[in-house]
Amino acid sequence: MTDPDPLSEGTPAERAKRLLDAARTRGDVRRLAPRLDADPALRRAVWEEGNRRGAQLGEAAMQWPARRLLRVARAREQAARVRSNPVHRDESFVCGHCQGQVPAHGRTARNHCPWCLRSLHVDQVPGDRSSDCGALMDPIGVEIVGGKATLRHRCRDCGAEVRVRALQDGQVPDDWEMVIRLSIGEDV
Ligand SMILES: [Zn+2]
Ligand SMILES: [Zn+2]
Repeated sequence: MTDPDPLSEGTPAERAKRLLDAARTRGDVRRLAPRLDADPALRRAVWEEGNRRGAQLGEAAMQWPARRLLRVARAREQAARVRSNPVHRDESFVCGHCQGQVPAHGRTARNHCPWCLRSLHVDQVPGDRSSDCGALMDPIGVEIVGGKATLRHRCRDCGAEVRVRALQDGQVPDDWEMVIRLSIGEDV
């Protein structure tokens, strides 16, 4: 006999608490989100429990895709953890858009592809690797912040926007023609 499923027992409120406690990683959120689609009472209870934990979900959030609702319902706890334990990593990676082999930067966290300027939605604040989303982010503009060129990225999946420094140094500096084209509103 197998163990009873902990998420199928108890009231919706009890199950929502256990579900939010269990949704720790990006993989957990993917695995657990279908529970919300299969069970409207559980979805409502996750919405209520998320608000109790400080997520500030509006009524519209009840119509969100389950993954997004689950991510945001636990976001506040996670944000507190990020602030107390920031991690900044400079890693090599294969670009999910142009498939370029991107080397680590060397001086600072390499967070976007130097050739196509795409990145992955893995950070809530640059370099912390704490977002559950993981979708590709497209460069949508260039701004000058503190005298430095800064790329604005928008996530293809969840629409989140972040700003990251354009990099003119390191093993492979950003393709500056791309940065300039982006700055005058061309699609890149
Ligand atoms: Zn690329
Ligand atoms: Zn995203």
